Amino acid sequence: MIQLIRGFKDILPGEVETWQKIEKTASALFEDFGFKEIRIPVMERTELFARSIGEDTDIVEKEMYTFPDRKGDLITLRPEATASIVRSYIQHKMHAADPVQKLYTTGPMFRRERPQKGRYRQFYQINAEIFGVASPLVDVQLIFLLMTLFSRLGVTDVKAHINSLGCPACRPGYRKALSGFLASIADQLCADCQRRRERNPLRVLDCKVPSCREALTEAPSILDHLCDDCRQDFETVKEYLNRLNISFVADKRLVRGLDYYARTTFEIQTGALGAQSAVAGGGRYDGLVKMLGGPDQPATGFAIGLDRLAEIVGRLQATPVKKPDLFVAALGEKSRNEAFLWICDLGLEGINAEMDFSNRSLKSQMKRADKLGAAYVLIVGDNELKEGTVILRNMQTKDQVSIPIDKITEEVKKTVMVG
Ligand code: ATP
Ligand code: MG
Repeated sequence: MIQLIRGFKDILPGEVETWQKIEKTASALFEDFGFKEIRIPVMERTELFARSIGEDTDIVEKEMYTFPDRKGDLITLRPEATASIVRSYIQHKMHAADPVQKLYTTGPMFRRERPQKGRYRQFYQINAEIFGVASPLVDVQLIFLLMTLFSRLGVTDVKAHINSLGCPACRPGYRKALSGFLASIADQLCADCQRRRERNPLRVLDCKVPSCREALTEAPSILDHLCDDCRQDFETVKEYLNRLNISFVADKRLVRGLDYYARTTFEIQTGALGAQSAVAGGGRYDGLVKMLGGPDQPATGFAIGLDRLAEIVGRLQATPVKKPDLFVAALGEKSRNEAFLWICDLGLEGINAEMDFSNRSLKSQMKRADKLGAAYVLIVGDNELKEGTVILRNMQTKDQVSIPIDKITEEVKKTVMVG
């Protein structure tokens, strides 16, 4: 038997209802705040991710599914969505129509990391991005949207962690201070961090190895190195989070794994998931649009880890699986053929009617109706066909009424919609 690939998974009926609920709640919320949906491809030229995410990141170094297509062009299954949305913003000159664009999307991402609970090789994200606004108030708005979404889904064990990553003016100074510190504790760092230390020292802060985390408790804080503009920005973020009653922690260790972030950065963490505690992450990436060949427009956004969120929401409250409204128990071929036309008609009216297509006894058909959890059963045989009436039975109360065949759709609709 062929099994699915390691790190990949099926989302089965029974789970999928939770996913649908999250997606619906999110898109309704985003649309209320003026976001428009965008759909982007799952594959792009490798260069797009290599340039935007950065060569020295885990993603580009070792996690991307990259392969040559039949003509030899290097393509990559997207590890994240922001790069593609930026590409699209530039390619379709959205900025010419209006530099301010608010976009969201949902879909699968691919990263070849070690599969474990809460970590898959195909996983799903909901992204929202705002282009063309430099004000830190929109960063606050993004965090506000995330917290509102979680609260609407009943997820309360979440906290916003925020930090500033500085800007091209002040980050180099911090980088230098951090490098100095890392050199002094180099012997305590893991092999990956030894390498990161030289090439991308900020990423050492993101290491999940416990001994590295321990060694970093005394690391210098970027907050002590921010320039006046960045500091002012960060103060505004905190002030307006407070004014919107969003509780948060300033977390000097929070950095994003992706290179293009600047200033406000944030992560929503939960205690509900064990080690994989981040359910959403995001922040400002002002330099990326220009870096990818577009105009110099600021941008900010987030990605929600849908798999992790669904895990929590599904645990809180199982979303009920829909059951049929009606089962038609038809006896004999003639009745079955008629019943088939009725269930097609009922479906068009929004009533899910099921039937059995084989020649089974009334008893076994009633059993099947029970198993499916149908609220009503319509019983029809040769006699009923001749007399022009069928029996509609309420499976809970066992009440039965007789209804004329030429009025089945409207009578069933009346009964089922009320009951
Ligand atoms: P982590 O620190 O957990 O590796 P990350 O920094 O790599 O996360 P981002 O690139 O910021 O994650 O993606 C945003 C969100 O997507 C994460 O907060 C997480 O919920 C989810 N996510 C990331 N990678 C995976 C994965 N392999 N499987 C499931 N969810 C993931
Ligand atoms: Mg990661």
